[in-house]
Amino acid sequence: MGSNTRGEGTVSEADCIFCKIARGEIDAEVVHDEDDVLAFRDINSQAPVHLLVIPRQHVANLEEVGDLPDGVVKRLFEVSSAVAQEAGVTEGGYAVRVNNGRDAGQEVLHLHMHVMGGRKLGMP
Ligand code: 5GP
Ligand code: ZN
Repeated sequence: MGSNTRGEGTVSEADCIFCKIARGEIDAEVVHDEDDVLAFRDINSQAPVHLLVIPRQHVANLEEVGDLPDGVVKRLFEVSSAVAQEAGVTEGGYAVRVNNGRDAGQEVLHLHMHVMGGRKLGMP
């Protein structure tokens, strides 16, 4: 058990909703499960395919990504590609998005990548 003490709006691992999913304390529709990385369906889909890919280790945001063990960041991208392929959206294309911080609308303070596809997606 530890806590994040950097930045504003911090949350402890004990209280973090994505840590709870990673520990199996909250149900999620898991689509990919491995040692360091987990992927599951977003509870409030914004696209026909809307998955979340997270490191199991709690880091709040990209400013803390250096705390992850070597290789985990690469796996986040590889798993994003794998689950997109499994969901059948690689041909049409898909977006991989990190909302980082307040202005980006980050709601869950555990780093996560949105993998969205199945419809035309624009910016922002
Ligand atoms: P953010 O705005 O932080 O980038 O995105 C957080 C995402 O997590 C949102 O799209 C929201 O729907 C999703 N989310 C929040 N709570 C839960 C939950 O308990 N289970 C699942 N599967 N997704 C969640
Ligand atoms: Zn967490």
